[in-house]
Amino acid sequence: MEPLGYLPNMESVTREVKLMMNPETAFAAAPADAPAPSRFGVKDVEDVTWKNYFDSLACTECGRCTSVCPANITGKRLSPRKIFIDLRARMKEKGPGFVKSGKEFNDGKSLLSDYITAEELWACTTCNACAQECPVNINHPSLIVEMRRYLVMEEAAAPTGLNMMFNNIENNGAPWQFSPQDRMKWAEGLEIWDAWERMWRCG
Ligand code: SF4
Ligand code: SF4
Repeated sequence: MEPLGYLPNMESVTREVKLMMNPETAFAAAPADAPAPSRFGVKDVEDVTWKNYFDSLACTECGRCTSVCPANITGKRLSPRKIFIDLRARMKEKGPGFVKSGKEFNDGKSLLSDYITAEELWACTTCNACAQECPVNINHPSLIVEMRRYLVMEEAAAPTGLNMMFNNIENNGAPWQFSPQDRMKWAEGLEIWDAWERMWRCG
């Protein structure tokens, strides 16, 4: 029962970052038999959590989530209610294949793209209004964010605005298009400027 809006870090990615920053910590934190992730994020029903799937079964289709969704209200294609109805429908379609042929079953379709489009997913502001209103505690943003993670990490299919931000973080250490050295220019001529210059020089 995490606080509403809590987005967990991806363990496999966290490990990679720790490895870069401090190899000893990373190896200590990684269980020896930790499996390599087969896929980042959610593409199809086999990637969702049991909670996501139970959520889809619990949905009463009341529509309260969609009625408060700012994306939906402003005419975007996103409907949080539809996201979970789609998950339920896709499991109903693919589930029998899993039972018959095992977890490698593939019918050439997927939840993402055949049921839910990238346009729907990127319309979400992660405001959590849908989850707040849902009478059966369904957490819509958790699934939406995981599908976005798949798009970004497996398909490199982020919207242009986000790609610019990723580049800036990589090059400048911040989402903005300014060099880290220029970050304090606003303080030039102020008292704080001298303190910052001393700090910068000392590293
Ligand atoms: S508010 Fe909850 S129960 Fe109602 S339609 Fe949305 S997800 Fe389903
Ligand atoms: S979190 Fe996303 S889906 Fe839910 S109400 Fe906000 S914008 Fe809509």
